Amino acid sequence: MKTNEIKALDKKRIVSTYARHDMAAASGKGVYCYDTEGKKYIDFTAGIGVNCFGYCDEGWLKAVTQQLEKLQHSSNLYYTEPQVKVADMLAERTGLSKVYFGNSGAEANEVAIKTARKFGALKGRTNPNIITLKQSFHGRTMGAMTATGQEKYHEDFGPLPEGFKYCEAGNTEQLRQLVDENTCAVMMELIQGEGGVLPLEKTFVEAAAELCESREILLIIDEVQTGIGRTGKLFAHEHFGIKPDIVTFAKGIGAGLPLGGAIFGEKACDVLAPGSHGTTYGGNPVACAGAVEVLERLDEKFLADVAAKGEYLKAKLLEIPGVKDVSGMGLMLGVSLDAKPAADVVKDALEGGLMTLTAKEKVRLLPPLTITYEEIDEGLDIFKKSV
Ligand SMILES: *Cc1c(COP(=O)(O)O)cnc(C)c1O
Repeated sequence: MKTNEIKALDKKRIVSTYARHDMAAASGKGVYCYDTEGKKYIDFTAGIGVNCFGYCDEGWLKAVTQQLEKLQHSSNLYYTEPQVKVADMLAERTGLSKVYFGNSGAEANEVAIKTARKFGALKGRTNPNIITLKQSFHGRTMGAMTATGQEKYHEDFGPLPEGFKYCEAGNTEQLRQLVDENTCAVMMELIQGEGGVLPLEKTFVEAAAELCESREILLIIDEVQTGIGRTGKLFAHEHFGIKPDIVTFAKGIGAGLPLGGAIFGEKACDVLAPGSHGTTYGGNPVACAGAVEVLERLDEKFLADVAAKGEYLKAKLLEIPGVKDVSGMGLMLGVSLDAKPAADVVKDALEGGLMTLTAKEKVRLLPPLTITYEEIDEGLDIFKKSV
């Protein structure tokens, strides 16, 4: 189909929850994406931080197709090897204990929220509350949406689930005041992605971790965007020197297949019991076979390369006239501009053959972790012209 035909059918038949760009993606290889007209784009979005190895990476493709030929799904009534392998790798590498698998970031945060509430119930906190941050983003389901500290996402969807309180990011004093005897969890992203690629201050994160520890409150870190190597560490919380009780993940782990979940530390890993929670697809063997490949390849050297490429990209961006500032870590960057609106830069870049994202008033860049320096330069050339 031609792009215009796809667009027309989309308009007629797809519920319009997305403001789509004027492009229909048809195929891809590595960092390059091709539209239905055969135009080539260099992709600095990685499907919103999902395609960590770019498009159709050979190793990943082999891992998932081999599994696909053996067993595509079995439900969670039976054991499967890929699922336990991924769980073991995640637990080993984080020093946490056990994993729950779902299919998306929102679902990952839902299980964290439900676990926090049950943790509260077991401790006799009869009217439990969870503290999250303003400007956060945790997903679109009722619980995750309510956890999201931005009113624009809540509008028209009330009544919302009770028991959420919102703290200004970085305001330790306010966090202390919000905590009460019914608080069961504090939940945060360490770099607020959708909120504008805003890293939290280390002192605030440390204070929050200490507060959680001393008051028997679960510390939930939403690593759906920051996790799986995006910031140059397997998980961003490693930069902050904290040990969360629950880490949620999704996006990059599946390298393009839907997979997400939560890793639980000792305090939280036995809160849920058979029957407490579940999902039919969660931890699908094909997605998990791909995730094994992802985790195997994300070793120390790979992660150090991500960090170095991130530094390079950041430095080069700062040299571009019209770029005011660059926030973020590794290959998760937010570009503030002097004058031109971010949405216009994104639109012009796409026309020039570069895919980028926005985050509030910034241009957000989440290129594949496997991008090379030459490919970074190639994308930067187009970006420069668009700014
Ligand atoms: C994308 C995102 C989510 C939601 O993930 P979905 O897979 O879209 O449900 C949650 N938290 C953060 C930090 C995210 O970036």
